[in-house]
Amino acid sequence: MKTKICGYCKEIYPATLEYFFKRVTKAGTIINGYVLKNDSISLKSVCKTCNGKKTVLLVQKKRAKELNISLEEYQANAQKIGRDESRISKLKYKEFKDLSPKECSENLRRISRGYTLEDLKNFEVVKKKRLKEKYIKNRKYDYSELGDMYPLTVRACNSKYHQVITPALIALRMNLPVKELTPELYELGKKSRLLRRQINSIITN
Ligand SMILES: [Zn+2]
Repeated sequence: MKTKICGYCKEIYPATLEYFFKRVTKAGTIINGYVLKNDSISLKSVCKTCNGKKTVLLVQKKRAKELNISLEEYQANAQKIGRDESRISKLKYKEFKDLSPKECSENLRRISRGYTLEDLKNFEVVKKKRLKEKYIKNRKYDYSELGDMYPLTVRACNSKYHQVITPALIALRMNLPVKELTPELYELGKKSRLLRRQINSIITN
């Protein structure tokens, strides 16, 4: 049987397509000054195994160069690099690539609550600011005369509560459940409270 030495690993194999890839040289190719008349078929000089290894090595060299690391470093970490790259490619926000999975999901949750990527950079500050805005917006009464008081003191809340004569306050004074307080009763109670306040202020002055 005709044999052939692999030009790479120097092993001797049968010179067949089982061990070597086919090489086709097209008609018209000039070899040593002669023009090839017909397509010529021969075997490649390295065995199939080495051919595969060479291809892998070429790819690894290219990847190492792209990542700006040495070939050895790439080979030692190829699996991890591959995993990271696949994780990053699946990320909706590439900005999260250096975060742990936990931090990543936390940030996604924040975005779903309406925070922007810019907000996340300074999350605690933005969160406090938003809470304050929400708190001020949701106040039951207008406290603007107190300035930018945040949070409100119990005293400020109480004084407002007593200034604004609510149905709940009247019902409490009348010893009634709020739902039993008719508009007429409320008006009556309100008048009586205003009157009492007037009298009190006259007495104390
Ligand atoms: Zn070989």
